Amino acid sequence: MTSGGIAARVCVLGPSGRMGRAVIEAASGRQDVAITAAVDRPDADGLGGLVVAGVLASADLTAGLRASDVYIDFTSPVSSRAAARAAASLHKPGVIGTTGLGPDDEAALADLAKVAPIVVAANFSLGVNLMLGLVRQAARALGPDWDAEVVETHHRAKRDAPSGTALMIARAIAAGHGADYEQVKRHSRDGDVGARPRGEIGVASVRGGDVIGEHTASFFGPAERIEISHRASSRGIFAAGALRAAAWAVGKPPGRYDMLDVLGLK
Ligand code: NAD
Repeated sequence: MTSGGIAARVCVLGPSGRMGRAVIEAASGRQDVAITAAVDRPDADGLGGLVVAGVLASADLTAGLRASDVYIDFTSPVSSRAAARAAASLHKPGVIGTTGLGPDDEAALADLAKVAPIVVAANFSLGVNLMLGLVRQAARALGPDWDAEVVETHHRAKRDAPSGTALMIARAIAAGHGADYEQVKRHSRDGDVGARPRGEIGVASVRGGDVIGEHTASFFGPAERIEISHRASSRGIFAAGALRAAAWAVGKPPGRYDMLDVLGLK
């Protein structure tokens, strides 16, 4: 703890976004973290509303990082890459929840992880992180003769598909099968795709309304089926997990961590 019981002074990126707002709201109910900076695009709506005592609200990423022990990033791949590069030069820990990251974005995170601790997770909820262990166990026990499929549903504004969480679940199934995910994945189907090959892992995406996030892993056996589902009904669960990760990360050695490290589930 630094002072007064505060474990982490936090810079929130994208405070005008759905998750940025949820992080700020969740932090207001906690004693162990304090939001000290909020950094958004210069043209973002609602930044002015954040100018309250003790919070540096601006478009100046470097100033926001300097004012904080750790940053929380739920923005976009381009923004997350730029933030990781800025944080690397300042050796600032990060908690990164942005999904849809490409190889260049991952490379920027890897550079940051060489000089500071970072927690990267496509889903910060306790339930989904437990679900990863459950689906892996189910896949290992049932084997590839039970057809495994993942279906995810999200609100209409979500940009990337499949969701990062669906990919984590599908990779956990592949790990349970002892398979290389890249060799067995099938992201949606269209047209004459032929009969389903043994061991294929299908992922399908549904978009609509204001659904925060739903994931189901199904295992189809002969005349029976197992389904393992998670449904989020508030973004507060992701925000609370990210704040917990931020408090956990401060003072840790450089490296890349995930929510299983934070939750002590490894
Ligand atoms: P959103 O569109 O509501 O918010 C994105 C925010 O990023 C906006 O405030 C935008 O102004 C800001 N932004 C964009 N460029 C920026 C820049 N250069 N600097 C600073 N801010 C910038 O999106 P959202 O629904 O809040 O989701 C954001 C990301 O988080 C998505 O990738 C989503 O998939 C992911 N997400 C992850 C989890 C998780 O648990 N890991 C949970 C929910 C959402």
